[in-house]
Amino acid sequence: MTKNCSLAETGELLKAAKKLVIVSHVSPDGDTLGSSLALMHALRMLGKEVIMNVDDDISTVYSFLPGIAEYRRFAPDESVDADLLVIVDASSADRAGNALEVVKSPAVLNIDHHKTNTQFADYLYLDSDAAATAEIIYSLLLEMGIKLTRDIATCIYEGIYTDTGSFKYSNTTSNTLKTAADLLKYGVNPSLISDNMELKSRSQVEMLRKVLETLTFLKDGKIAYIEIPLELYDHNVETDAFISYPRYVEGVEIALLFKQVEENLTRVSFRSKEIDVAKIALSFGGGGHKKAAGCSIYAPLKEAEKVILEAVGELFV
Ligand code: AMP
Ligand code: MN
Ligand code: MN
Repeated sequence: MTKNCSLAETGELLKAAKKLVIVSHVSPDGDTLGSSLALMHALRMLGKEVIMNVDDDISTVYSFLPGIAEYRRFAPDESVDADLLVIVDASSADRAGNALEVVKSPAVLNIDHHKTNTQFADYLYLDSDAAATAEIIYSLLLEMGIKLTRDIATCIYEGIYTDTGSFKYSNTTSNTLKTAADLLKYGVNPSLISDNMELKSRSQVEMLRKVLETLTFLKDGKIAYIEIPLELYDHNVETDAFISYPRYVEGVEIALLFKQVEENLTRVSFRSKEIDVAKIALSFGGGGHKKAAGCSIYAPLKEAEKVILEAVGELFV
């Protein structure tokens, strides 16, 4: 049974622990990394021992984040003791990678903003109105009476920047912008973040050229998708932004990106104008938000495309 916590209860849980493991979700993005790192800096200021974990590679795009070098990946046979295991910005247990097996902790706390949260932890702080988990972390640290530093503020800003598509998606609220405005008072440099996030490697642009050739339209242009087959996939090349190309084509209601990361593993990203794609992603074991969701299909690219496009196509009959 999951106990849904208030912000104050969440703060008390964190304060009561001496040794914590903070886990970011697999396929890490700026929100899970920024939120987790902000929490790490804050808890270390309180004298806590904090271990950072993500069961995946981290894109070099995030190298500028203060504290990013603290992350380590657990070996599958490892055993790590902690008073509290904190899982950040993940809506289901599989998104935590191997941490739930490796870490021996009396309790698991999940801090999240996905409406598709599966209530897998012992304690949950969920606010699905928050644009980013980082927005929750900001309120949490204030609730805990922690004085923000520039490093903490930078990490929180990064999380909000990522999940709002630099303050432009429909999840951006007045609270989001108020939080960002406050973060600037702690010395955040917005252009440092956008310069790092917008910078593209040559290999990224070269891959984009090939990926755009796969652009396909279905259902009178209401569905558009692009694909990254295994031959093209390179875990060192950042592709998160590619989906914005089919997404913003006139007439497109649902855009998809199929990325084959292993022979039998295809990651699917969904974006929509109005249709609830979180529902579709959830039905395939994934999750997300109404207009931005994802899932993993344990099949090769073409097989994954077939099942997903069939399900998406049914919405337009
Ligand atoms: P992405 O398309 O990877 O940028 O993800 C869009 C949204 O869907 C984010 O909020 C992710 O956290 C969520 N998401 C992506 N993949 C998965 C998955 N396999 N399981 C659950 N949620 C996911
Ligand atoms: Mn995320
Ligand atoms: Mn998020």
